[in-house]
Amino acid sequence: MTNLRIGHGYDVHRLEEGRKLILGGVEIPWDRGLLGHSDADVLVHAVMDALAGASRLGDIGKLFPDTDPAYAGISSLKLLEEVGRLLAERGFAVVNIDAALLAQAPKIAPYKERMAENIAAALGIEPEQVNVKATTEEGLGFTGDGSGMAAHAAALLERVG
Ligand code: MG
Repeated sequence: MTNLRIGHGYDVHRLEEGRKLILGGVEIPWDRGLLGHSDADVLVHAVMDALAGASRLGDIGKLFPDTDPAYAGISSLKLLEEVGRLLAERGFAVVNIDAALLAQAPKIAPYKERMAENIAAALGIEPEQVNVKATTEEGLGFTGDGSGMAAHAAALLERVG
């Protein structure tokens, strides 16, 4: 059996006034932010779910329940670091991650490299192993009307231990 494992993650958060917009660990100036128990970093949540899927850790709802006050307002990069530790414990190394943000606005291009660097740093891997991209959904649906953002991620792991 191959030592490679693929995982996919998907997440959605609602946009609300009075919240900071944190994406890939970068605070982006915007009139609204994502609503959630943690910092609601939808991109990092999708990445964590992809990693959890590939390693059969389940999903982030199981790892970090939103009923646990310990995770209230926490930086999702801290949670990603914990996922990285769990992967290492189980003998997995990250081969690469590809993450896609679905949002009508704001423009994400100026921040993509920093997001990739943040994700890589949290996992102790190289920025070249992480790709962050973004797309609009052409004004359609909940991302198109600005009521929320979504993210997909794919992760490839190799069992090394
Ligand atoms: Mg989430």
